[in-house]
Amino acid sequence: MKETPQEKRIHENMKAGVMCAKGFLGSDTRHFHEIIETDAAHLQTLGYTREEVADRMQALTNAAFEAFMGSITLEEHLIVEYTSFRGKLTCPFAHPGGFRKGSVTLQNTRNNITLCWTPLNIHMIREHGFFEGHGSEHRLDPDILIKALFN
Ligand SMILES: [Zn+2]
Repeated sequence: MKETPQEKRIHENMKAGVMCAKGFLGSDTRHFHEIIETDAAHLQTLGYTREEVADRMQALTNAAFEAFMGSITLEEHLIVEYTSFRGKLTCPFAHPGGFRKGSVTLQNTRNNITLCWTPLNIHMIREHGFFEGHGSEHRLDPDILIKALFN
């Protein structure tokens, strides 16, 4: 695939140490287009759209954020907790503006899956269909994410 200069810049942005210390690609050597396409196909077989996933993550994030301190239990089996950090995160796809640097931890007590995400993850899933590369700290594998959110 021929890369435009802008795509090249986005790919650079995703590497460790450019926009965030650990980057967005982890040990994944694939182009971000390929990561996105593979995850999109996978998500489709799971029967969810990225909007549904992002909406669900946003609703849980809002609930966790409004709990202020400590964790809150939702729907009897979801424990969410919001941890805030100073600073802002920037979208590697070169969107203007910043995203709050907090992180949400979700524990699903039905299947014992625990995972965590940032507000930027929600944005990248909704707008770009990007779940990050394999081995990336905040990679949200669609399989695991769907189970955690919807089981
Ligand atoms: Zn963006």
